[in-house]
Amino acid sequence: MARSDLLFRAGLLGASMPFLLVGLLLSTATGGAGWAALSAAALLLPQIAASAAMAPGMRRLLIGLLGISYHALRIAMPPGAKKALLAETMVVEVNDRALEGILRSGGLTPDRVLLLLPHCLQTHACVHRIVHDHSLCTRCGACDMAALLELAGKRGTGLSIATGGTAARRAVEEARPGMVVAVACPRDLSSGILDSASVPVYGVLNSRPNGDCFDTRVDTSRIESVLDLMLRLPDRT
Ligand code: SF4
Repeated sequence: MARSDLLFRAGLLGASMPFLLVGLLLSTATGGAGWAALSAAALLLPQIAASAAMAPGMRRLLIGLLGISYHALRIAMPPGAKKALLAETMVVEVNDRALEGILRSGGLTPDRVLLLLPHCLQTHACVHRIVHDHSLCTRCGACDMAALLELAGKRGTGLSIATGGTAARRAVEEARPGMVVAVACPRDLSSGILDSASVPVYGVLNSRPNGDCFDTRVDTSRIESVLDLMLRLPDRT
C-alpha cells in the first residue's frame, strides 16, 4: 500500500479514536456488548468507507473522508512532520489516484477541461503581464508558461492563471468545467481539492527551487500525459 494510502487510513483511525475510547470505557464500565460493538464499528467503519470511497462515483464520500483524515493528521502530527506537508500531499495523491479511473474512461471533450495555473510559474523577470491576457506571452521559454500555453492551445482546453485561491475558485465557477487539472503547491492544491467536491480536480504539484511562490516550476510532460489520458489522445512518447 502506498504511503499516502497509509496516511489516509491513519488519519481516519485517528479521527475515530475518541469514539473508540468512549465505547471501550463504557463497555468496560457496563459490561455491555452494545458498547463493545460500537467500539469495533468506530475502528472498522472508517476503513471500510475509505476503501469504498476510491470507487468511481463516490467523489463526495472521498472528499469528506479526505477532509476528516487531513484534519486528524494535522492535529496528530508533530511540528516537524507538519513542515513536511505530509497531510497536504496525502490529499493530493489519494485524490489523484481515485481520479485516474475516471480519466481512463475518457469521455471529456477539451472544452470541458480547465488547466488552472498559479501565477508564480511565470518568471519574476518577465515584463509581460500575462495573467489576464495570455497572448502577451511571447513563448520565449524562460519559464514553463510557454510550454503550458502551447499545450492548452494545441489540445483546445481552457487555461486560467490564478493569483491566489479566491481567483482560482472564481475561474472554476466561471468556466464550469467537467474536470480541472490544477498546478499548485501542496497547501493550495489540497485546500482546492477539499473545497471542490462537485468538480473533480486533478492535482499536479509544482516544484519550488527558489522558495514558495517564486519562480516555481512544473513537470510539463506529466501535464501532457494527464491531458492525453483525459482526452484519449495517443501517447506521443
Ligand atoms: S515564456 Fe517568456 S514571455 Fe512567456 S511568461 Fe515566461 S518569461 Fe514571459
